[in-house]
Amino acid sequence: MSPSKQPLKYPDMKKKDQQTKGYVYIIGAGPGDPDLLTLKAERALQASDVILYDDLVTSALVDRFEGLKIYTGKRKDSHHFEQDAINEEIVRHALRGKTVARLKGGDPFVFGRGGEEIDVLRQHRIDYEIIPGITAAHGASSYSEIPLTMRKVSSSVAFCTGHPINKIQAPDADTLVYYMVASSVHAVLEAVLKKGRSESTKVAIVQNATRYNQQVFTGTIGEFLRRDRVAYSPALLIIGENINHFIEENWYSRKKKVLTVGGEPAQFSSREYVRVNFPCRREEAAERSVLEECFHGIGDWPVVFFPNRFAVKYFFGYLMEFGRDVRHLAGARICTLGRPAATELQKYGVLSDLVLEPESPSAIAGMLRDGGICNDRVLLPGSNLVDSYLVNALEEEGNTVTPLSVYLHGKHEQEESIDLDFIDEIWFSSPSCVKNFSALYRSIPENITVTTADVETAAEYARLFGS
Ligand code: SAH
Repeated sequence: MSPSKQPLKYPDMKKKDQQTKGYVYIIGAGPGDPDLLTLKAERALQASDVILYDDLVTSALVDRFEGLKIYTGKRKDSHHFEQDAINEEIVRHALRGKTVARLKGGDPFVFGRGGEEIDVLRQHRIDYEIIPGITAAHGASSYSEIPLTMRKVSSSVAFCTGHPINKIQAPDADTLVYYMVASSVHAVLEAVLKKGRSESTKVAIVQNATRYNQQVFTGTIGEFLRRDRVAYSPALLIIGENINHFIEENWYSRKKKVLTVGGEPAQFSSREYVRVNFPCRREEAAERSVLEECFHGIGDWPVVFFPNRFAVKYFFGYLMEFGRDVRHLAGARICTLGRPAATELQKYGVLSDLVLEPESPSAIAGMLRDGGICNDRVLLPGSNLVDSYLVNALEEEGNTVTPLSVYLHGKHEQEESIDLDFIDEIWFSSPSCVKNFSALYRSIPENITVTTADVETAAEYARLFGS
């Protein structure tokens, strides 16, 4: 019943033969619009066996490539990799002779920790190359029509960070661009004022730059200081008089944002549109028979370990689908990794017996030992990509682990989060896509134009959404 991928042990790096070493591409993916990937990055990604990608990289972008995709992001609600673990993971695949793409948001060398990653590659004598990406500042600048330099207005620009708060700098440049500011806008503006800029200096926040849901907020330093929460991540703060050039109706805001469900029709390729693709297949994470067999015997597991909240959500979906409920879990000890998974579990009336909140993946084994999860049979529901750290940690404590895929990595998490408030039109390719979409979205806001590929699809839309 376990997916074909077996957990991999770390090779002894010192013994490894130089000949077998792979190759690493450190790649900048750009700020969000998948079309901003460079041709060189595209070619490298096509040639890669493994793609390790960050939070800021959308699954729409990585899905175009065939390599094994490993999400290394730091989303708050799921288990994540620390930088050391990411470095280890890159090295581990490279030492097995793989071509590895390390895909990072924006540019790898602008607040991207690319420098640390190449240090590790140098230590292990692994060959690599670096492919630059469009940094968020450049994406935000073009897609909001705020030039970073302008004759007679701004002749210098500085890229700064708003994190950590006690180290905020305000260099002496005409235009300042701050990264990582979502929770520190006020602190940054105070620091800039202290440096002698006036309260009337212009400020812009560009949120979700180059994506369908891009938003630009403008004002002065004084006005922003009087507002409460001003930005949500990812967002950039731009300060300087060049912001006077901004207009509400810019080239990007004028484009129609169309959500294409289940296809990529040519009619939306014209320059009038920004297309957001929504695959909307009901893809099973594992073979139906595997899921069925597992859920029919669900009462036999002494330990069920949920690595994140998605695992909980999709596990319980299947539990009901196969005619079981929480009573069948009565004999199992239930473990969760991280608070969000435990909170999700409570929605189903289950309290976690053990909630692990490790500082790093290496701390998991010790916590399992302390919690008494040793020498047992563990069912590990999760995505189709098995977290080898977790499996190794469980096995280190003498457990036999059976991973069970209940959702598709990356895809299911991101599909749930399309914000319809930013969409002007939705196009459905088939009746089944309408049906799958209706399982995720109960209603469609009235201002959205809905179009369909054919009359059958239109009929299904009318049946399910009532118009
Ligand atoms: N290497 C990246 C930056 C990583 S630091 C680059 O070159 O762009 C992460 C920060 O980048 C975020 O906190 C945010 O400030 C900024 N950022 C990344 N993508 C963004 C986007 N699409 N819109 C606005 N800001 C973005």
